[in-house]
Amino acid sequence: MDISQIIDKAVKRENLNLDEVTALMAASKKEDLDIIFSAARKVRDVQFGKKVFIYGFVYFSTYCRNNCAFCYYRATNTELGRYRKTPEEIMALSTSLYDAGINLVDLTMGEDPKMYANGHKELLNIVQGVRDEVPIGIMVSPGAMPREMFPKMKEAGADWFACYQETYNRDLFAKLRLDQDYDYRLNQRVWAREAGILTEDGMLVGLGETARDRAEATLRMGALGCEQIRAMTFVPQHGTPMQAIVPADSMDELKVIATMRLLFPDRLIPASLDVEGIVGLKTRIDAGANVITSIIPPHMELAGVAQHDLNIDDGCRSVDYVKEMLDDMGRHVATNAEYGAFLSEHKALIKGAE
Ligand code: SF4
Repeated sequence: MDISQIIDKAVKRENLNLDEVTALMAASKKEDLDIIFSAARKVRDVQFGKKVFIYGFVYFSTYCRNNCAFCYYRATNTELGRYRKTPEEIMALSTSLYDAGINLVDLTMGEDPKMYANGHKELLNIVQGVRDEVPIGIMVSPGAMPREMFPKMKEAGADWFACYQETYNRDLFAKLRLDQDYDYRLNQRVWAREAGILTEDGMLVGLGETARDRAEATLRMGALGCEQIRAMTFVPQHGTPMQAIVPADSMDELKVIATMRLLFPDRLIPASLDVEGIVGLKTRIDAGANVITSIIPPHMELAGVAQHDLNIDDGCRSVDYVKEMLDDMGRHVATNAEYGAFLSEHKALIKGAE
């Protein structure tokens, strides 16, 4: 299948079928890859110009009741020291990230039974507390929640709900998210949107999926309407059943980023610092990403997810360092007014779709 012809179709906003999307995911010749990445950059720049959104990451509880096979924080991993930040610590961290110039604070936790007790009371209080303190976007990544929780999460102040399916291949899902219900997880983004919350979905790359699996996941995420979609390369974790898997390089992830951009020009697509740290930033931006996620201030005793300490205490995942890197790339951090405009526009679209 001719890659140039597929790219021409995508750039003209003609729908690509599963075979065509699969061909983009499977491309390997240098000239084809150059065409894909260059087209993705152009499409991104037409839509968003040179501005990039930046997200601060507050992983406030590393306790989890689940046992996802790929995850360092799975319940049965006894190798790590877990933590749970107090509400006061979470407010202070969020405020310091806001002061440093981020556009959004991502409040993330494992499926922590303490946060889920009494109708998710502590979680809702934390979201409300941050809403009262910082006038920027709030994303909540709390694991899978019952349907009735979403209006409460919206009322507490969440702009976004993030929950990654990781794969749309049911067999692979069963091997990754052990003892979890595929459809319950799939419905998370549907229920969040019903409540008027923007949604993020994501896939893991390098865990035995095929190019067709990645193509199908991309199309499904787009069809769900998720305003932010992402791919992250699997990083093997000590103390997990997948610790011995030989990690893939990031090329498949970069092709997913570029393909997402070509298919869904107006979506937010992250370049995560949580896979390769700061050295992986440029390639992801050059593949069409327009958000930088997992910015973590140094010396705050906060962890990342896939890379629990990479580049955190050397300051390379700080706002200032990321701003410098963007400067070098001829790009700049979006203002909070610009980010607010994106939120308002897309929330209105969800309402309009109701
Ligand atoms: S991926 Fe999330 S739900 Fe699964 S074990 Fe890790 S923290 Fe828990």
